Amino acid sequence: MSERKQGGCLCGNVRYEVTVPEPHYNMCHCDMCRKWSAGPYMSVHCAGDDVTWINDTGLRWFRSSKWAERGFCSTCGSSLFYRLANQPEMMLIISVDSLDDASGITLQRHIYADHQPDRYAFADDTPRVTEAELLKEFGLEPGDG
Ligand SMILES: [Zn+2]
Ligand SMILES: [Zn+2]
Repeated sequence: MSERKQGGCLCGNVRYEVTVPEPHYNMCHCDMCRKWSAGPYMSVHCAGDDVTWINDTGLRWFRSSKWAERGFCSTCGSSLFYRLANQPEMMLIISVDSLDDASGITLQRHIYADHQPDRYAFADDTPRVTEAELLKEFGLEPGDG
């Protein structure tokens, strides 16, 4: 049984409550995520129609690609959410460290692993999924990040 969890940005102008269906996060190494979040983007997948906004006064959405948009706090700059622009109710991908308590949420896999630069590496042995493999899984085309 999944429990409701609260989270938010650094300053508190974005606060939310959501159910985290599976206690796992993905780590994305794509160029856009690394530029956006100043490192690999570590995120949990939630249902887009499940989120309750406790405070969204700071929340802004940036259209980052043909399909996707990214949500951030316009006050403190925290990188928070990723979703499909045309189907926001389908999923809301949330920065795992924006959760107030992310304990017990474990790494499931690395995605866009073929975009990971040489200057860092992780020692875990979870699956490494390439861009082509991931896009195939979701039926998307290159450039959709
Ligand atoms: Zn903020
Ligand atoms: Zn990414």
